[in-house]
Amino acid sequence: MKIKDKKFLVAALQELALHLKEEPKDDPIKLPLSIKRLGDESDLIKGVNAILHKLTNPSYTFSRCVNETFALFDQLSVFDKTCPAQLLVYCSSDSPIALAAKSEAARMKAPPPCWGATAGVGGFLPTNGYKSRIDSEYLSFMRENFLCAVYPPKDQLNSKFTIWHEVLHLLGLDDCYDENTLRRNCNCETCVMQYEPPSGVDENWPSPLCDNICDKQKEKLREFAEKVEQRCGAKNNS
Ligand SMILES: [Zn+2]
Ligand SMILES: [Zn+2]
Repeated sequence: MKIKDKKFLVAALQELALHLKEEPKDDPIKLPLSIKRLGDESDLIKGVNAILHKLTNPSYTFSRCVNETFALFDQLSVFDKTCPAQLLVYCSSDSPIALAAKSEAARMKAPPPCWGATAGVGGFLPTNGYKSRIDSEYLSFMRENFLCAVYPPKDQLNSKFTIWHEVLHLLGLDDCYDENTLRRNCNCETCVMQYEPPSGVDENWPSPLCDNICDKQKEKLREFAEKVEQRCGAKNNS
């Protein structure tokens, strides 16, 4: 990844975090999001890179990669914290993880995940295997939405759309389009959870988030923010 793309990614994530915490001004969503670089934890980055490298073998699937990364996070006690930890991989559209995500979607007959894909942990890990470490409700949330790969095409590297769309999946939002027609099926014409950018939006889209997300998804974010507040807020204030 080029330095300028890294900078763009970080700025896009920080902007999203700000929107989720402080917007809309009259009634903020108040969802705290903290962004950390994996590179700051050497064991973790080594392990994740080793798993990503396995994807150069086409028989190693996207879901196996997600499952093994989850197991690695567990093994290194990344989950031994109050709040969920999730992983975003930002890469080129011809990287092994992007190819694996696309071929897995094709196998599952799902709509092609054009510029990014989010996955949870598949069925074969023991359902209760991690209960001892952290609260099971939080863990089940992470298991559903654990890792996203963002791989915009070269001419879209300066678009926040894919980054925000996939991160919002990590936060539990679903898509706002019909699986067959790929048409938007929500009440916001410029909703960030639709399949591709709508026509007529400028390069700032989907900013500000609160104007570019439908009521249904906004409600979900608020519910999630409340849950987080109940859990982490109580702990932080005590
Ligand atoms: Zn999506
Ligand atoms: Zn929507």
